[in-house]
Amino acid sequence: MIPLSCGQIAEAVGGELVGVDPAAMIRATGDAAVVIDSRKVTPGGLFVALPGENVDGHDFVPAVTEAGATASLTTRPIEGSPCIVVADAQAALGELARLVISQLPELVVIGLTGSQGKTSTKDLIAQLLKPYGETVAPVGSFNNELGHPLTALQADLNTRFLVAEMGARHVGDITYLSRITPPKVGLVLNVGYSHIGEFGSQDAIAVAKGELIEAVLPGGTAVLNADDPRVAAMASRTQQTVKTFGEAPDSDVRASGIKLDAGGRPGFTLHIDGTEHQVQLQLVGEHQVSNALAAAAAVLAVGLTPEQVAEGLNAATTVSKWRMEVTERADGVTVINDAYNANPDSVKAALKALVAIGRTRRARTWAVLGEMRELGDTAMQEHDAVGRLAVRLDVNRLVAVTPAARPIHLGASLEGSWGNESAYAETIDEALDLLRKELQPGDVVLVKASRAAGLERLAAALLEEA
Ligand code: ATP
Ligand code: MG
Repeated sequence: MIPLSCGQIAEAVGGELVGVDPAAMIRATGDAAVVIDSRKVTPGGLFVALPGENVDGHDFVPAVTEAGATASLTTRPIEGSPCIVVADAQAALGELARLVISQLPELVVIGLTGSQGKTSTKDLIAQLLKPYGETVAPVGSFNNELGHPLTALQADLNTRFLVAEMGARHVGDITYLSRITPPKVGLVLNVGYSHIGEFGSQDAIAVAKGELIEAVLPGGTAVLNADDPRVAAMASRTQQTVKTFGEAPDSDVRASGIKLDAGGRPGFTLHIDGTEHQVQLQLVGEHQVSNALAAAAAVLAVGLTPEQVAEGLNAATTVSKWRMEVTERADGVTVINDAYNANPDSVKAALKALVAIGRTRRARTWAVLGEMRELGDTAMQEHDAVGRLAVRLDVNRLVAVTPAARPIHLGASLEGSWGNESAYAETIDEALDLLRKELQPGDVVLVKASRAAGLERLAAALLEEA
């Protein structure tokens, strides 16, 4: 964070100083400068006390004072602790981040949103940019009204690029985040089904995601997925330069000849403005091609050359956890942990990667699949389709875990010639029992479901064994 005194902070957030010297500085740096977790407070830091579901941040203010915090941002004075008292601590956090970003005119913000692939693409963009300037990007999925400003606050005068992942649950969320970090580049990946329950329709989701495109600064660039009609249509929501990516032949950044290698990692020819470059990704699954093209288009818009982009994509690795993490057990069973999240497209990509890995190793393949959440009315049909797809792709064994995933098992059982290849397990423990009995050395096991299904526990248990 840029050096700020408590007086400056109080002024920016409309707060009242109680027991604080206005000249006292926030001296902690990096992600320790401003924290919402009292355990992460270091001397000279600022603690933001938020009301939690089970605990109230205010209860920890005396402890953070003890730990040397310069001040706490609170909604009421806490006796014996230096406080900047505001009406709404979360709003104040946003205001503070906005102040910091507004003092960094040289900083280039790349904002991205979409239903799937935000974190994967954010990690790619950050890796592409790092060699060319100090880059701040969120850890994991820090993309909401708390994680986003906390990330923005890490920027200082040395920071050249800020990569901001932006999530939306409501119309207006992205406008709010974009006001904190006005984007030079705004990137929209796709409009899927996440949070459709809250939005009502995919068109409503598109309205919300497109707020990022409306926020692109004058002279900036909107980067849009040419393969997703709802995203491509967002071009009409900005006067700024528009660049597109995708497999569509007229996209500005395009891939052709996509092929999975022995590890399920896609290779392809990258086309940029008439130039061609070979790319072999180190990331597993065909869905990463779209993410790579998106990342390429975004960094081209801030001045990287096509050669730098191709070089960076070839070198980039997986950063965030539980996304197609491939681990081989001592007994030769390979586990592909993709329990972070799931939707029909990503399950398809994961199954294809599983089959590619199985084929080159001549190994037996297992798909252990849980529920895909947030599909609304199409849930039954989409689960059934996944089961049928597994059969058509020639996955060897399938286990559908928990009642919501049972239509996957039913779809598979009804598709083609399968006999006992598909199984249904009512609980994670039941699935584990079955796998313990039947897994053989050399087998490759994909574990995938929406986050809420909790299948990372199953993946972890499988990895602990043998
Ligand atoms: P969240 O909303 O939870 O922050 P996210 O948008 O950041 O999610 P990632 O964490 O990158 O997305 O990926 C989540 C899951 O979505 C991955 O496990 C993967 O299966 C799938 N996924 C990633 N990229 C794509 C894509 N381009 N198209 C479809 N599915 C994808
Ligand atoms: Mg994310």
